[in-house]
Amino acid sequence: MGRRKSKRKPPPKRKNIQPLDTQFNCPFCNHERSCEVDMDKSHNVGRVHCMICLEDFQCTINYLSEAVDVYNEWIDACESAN
Ligand SMILES: [Zn+2]
Repeated sequence: MGRRKSKRKPPPKRKNIQPLDTQFNCPFCNHERSCEVDMDKSHNVGRVHCMICLEDFQCTINYLSEAVDVYNEWIDACESAN
């Protein structure tokens, strides 16, 4: 019985995980990073609001959703409204 040499590759080094960006540019007043996203995963609701012009938006999220998804939904909703 030959010994099987199983060379396990070390897991790739992960880059430092950065906190997810939850601040985005506002499509209404065009301020940078004035929109904050709030993920309410227990209620499956994502909210985004602008601290400058107070525009806000809500959408349904799931466990895979990220802040940027809520923001993109908002942008889509803005574009389809125009
Ligand atoms: Zn704004």
